[in-house]
Amino acid sequence: MEHPFLETPIALLKGVGPKRAEMLAGELGIRTFGDLLLHAPFRYEDRTGFAQISSIASDAVGVQLAGVVLKIEQVGAAGARRTVARFRDATGECDLVWFKGGAWAVAHVPVGTQVVVYGKPQRYGNRWSIPHPEVELASTFEQRGGQGLQPVYPSTVLLGQRGLGSAGIARLVRTLLEAPGFEVSDPLPPALREESRLWDRQTAVRAVHAPADATAAAHARRRLAFDELLLLQLTLVRRKQELTRNQPGVRFATVGDLFNRFYADCLPFALTGAQKRVLREIRADVNTGWHMNRLLQGDVGSGKTVVALLTALLALDNGHQACIMAPTEILAQQHFVSFSELLAGLPVRATLLTGNVKGAARREALEGLASGEIGIAIGTHALIEPGVVFKQLGLAVIDEQHRFGVEQRAKLWAKSTTPPHVLVMTATPIPRTLAMTAYGDLDVSLLDELPPGRKPIRTVHRTDAARDSVFGFLQDELALGRQVYIVYPLIEESETLEFKDLMDGYESVVRRFPLPDYRVGIVHGRQRPEDKEYEMRRFIAGETHILVATTVIEVGVNVPNASVMVVESAERFGLSQLHQLRGRVGRGSDASYCILMTKEGLGRDALRRVETMCRTQDGFEIAEVDMELRGPGDVMGTQQSGMPDLRVADLLRDREILAAARYTATVLLESDPDLRHPAHAALANELRRVRAARRDWSRIS
Ligand code: ADP
Ligand code: MG
Repeated sequence: MEHPFLETPIALLKGVGPKRAEMLAGELGIRTFGDLLLHAPFRYEDRTGFAQISSIASDAVGVQLAGVVLKIEQVGAAGARRTVARFRDATGECDLVWFKGGAWAVAHVPVGTQVVVYGKPQRYGNRWSIPHPEVELASTFEQRGGQGLQPVYPSTVLLGQRGLGSAGIARLVRTLLEAPGFEVSDPLPPALREESRLWDRQTAVRAVHAPADATAAAHARRRLAFDELLLLQLTLVRRKQELTRNQPGVRFATVGDLFNRFYADCLPFALTGAQKRVLREIRADVNTGWHMNRLLQGDVGSGKTVVALLTALLALDNGHQACIMAPTEILAQQHFVSFSELLAGLPVRATLLTGNVKGAARREALEGLASGEIGIAIGTHALIEPGVVFKQLGLAVIDEQHRFGVEQRAKLWAKSTTPPHVLVMTATPIPRTLAMTAYGDLDVSLLDELPPGRKPIRTVHRTDAARDSVFGFLQDELALGRQVYIVYPLIEESETLEFKDLMDGYESVVRRFPLPDYRVGIVHGRQRPEDKEYEMRRFIAGETHILVATTVIEVGVNVPNASVMVVESAERFGLSQLHQLRGRVGRGSDASYCILMTKEGLGRDALRRVETMCRTQDGFEIAEVDMELRGPGDVMGTQQSGMPDLRVADLLRDREILAAARYTATVLLESDPDLRHPAHAALANELRRVRAARRDWSRIS
């Protein structure tokens, strides 16, 4: 069968064969010629020039030598066996050593002919030795242009053992670049290429593997990363357009009585600039006649609730109902309480609907929602159960969205003939580049300004040596009538040790803060939900003074009187978790504190996390550091949406390329939504091809 060059199965490449093809696919996802060409080097080694054995620098990290192998043999007893070759250049002698794969070396290292050797030299006594060097016939080296920048490819241990480490892959790539019929077409219209100052694709593909110099390598990589991100953004922006432009939505055309009365009479504060901007964005969205699918990102305390409430009033003003979904019973109740207080002066009925609302109260709620007498329902997953019927649901607000899955959202959509507008709120800031990829098909609003007058939370780092003074400080705060959280690392079902830490910690807190003056509560993941709730309620009501807890308290809970957050073993928490935990304090008018307790002598990453927490309270800044430390995939792993896996592009390094690609995708699709223009035919083709091959891209939600 004929294949277009790039789609030729990798098994058909000279030097591959079925076994290696299977391994390349399994280990690196390389199935076709095209895949191998996009397996870009992650760095280059400068192999210009040769060193001399007599004058190898003592701190050399890599040397390239030209000379002859005199002999190669296995030495040492079983257990310490190794293979050693004696190598000589014009200035002296050194050893080449293999601790593994010696048999292969004996069979393949040519003796008595000119070779080129590369590796990291080590000094043993008065002799240089190079473990696991690369060895190549000088003639081959010459022929392939071995001088200059040489690519270093990502590989795996398994592939390395089968001769497909970096050098092996480089050999395959060279074969491919010379293969008959080598051709890479360029999907970008020339005008666009020039405007974005991008190399043509074929030149880029060649240069990424064999660059003339560092500048060429950078140009080549930029072009390939741009292409990859452009295709991804075309997919996302297109889906976003489909969701909004092609999906009819209910229209909230008027800003009515409820909204205006609330704004004029009930709003207890002036909105921040960010809140106003976001409300404008929402109002524009719900007035288009298309469906709104918007993500509202706002740090803890940025005032998302009132935005949700005003949006709900907009729905009511236009004859629709609204629902607010929270991830836990307690959060739903807190929302219900704050909504009820804010709505006190308005003729609006709101109801709570959770698993705990039973009997007559439940019946009343269900009837009110079905008849339309109740305008706003606030609850948990219970809201999306089939038994809950709305007369005219027009808006669904989902708080802390990462706890709601795609299926649950689908259930929500089924609640009315025209799907309700969706406003997803999250207090977990994610870096812009991630938002543009993982949520690229949503509209994103940012609440990037905190209401005025917030006192900063003073954050400090302490080690166990300072425990006494920390406890003394807690005592002072408790004497002022404040409450304190003490958080321990998360308990997994299996982690008996951590559970013991928590219980020991609890006991020492109780010993230090004994009855009858102090009451200490405890919540953790092994408790029955009822017990957990009971403990939380006692703390919220001020009946307990200190709450010893795991991260189960992390999301959304509001206890304004709590002024200190102590995090034990803080080095074991991730940055976004620490940020969320700290957000539990600083909610009242008092000064508040976050104390990060760690062991002595932290590792580099842990220290960076702790220092970042002490330095800033800006959730977006913290999210950026988090992404640098953990990588984009792991950051998103804590959320529910999938991240596409990128071959060339890197969301850390390529922020600007990503922004350019998103811009280009938006402009392209605005002028030509279905890519029908002849100049875009190649691009449309490429997009179809990639979508068929990259199923992970369609999982992004
Ligand atoms: P979050 O975004 O974390 O859900 P909330 O909506 O709970 O934040 O708001 C946090 C606190 O800030 C609440 O007590 C709320 O009443 C108050 N708040 C919200 N917006 C403003 C504002 N514009 N000015 C002053 N206080 C505000
Ligand atoms: Mg909130």
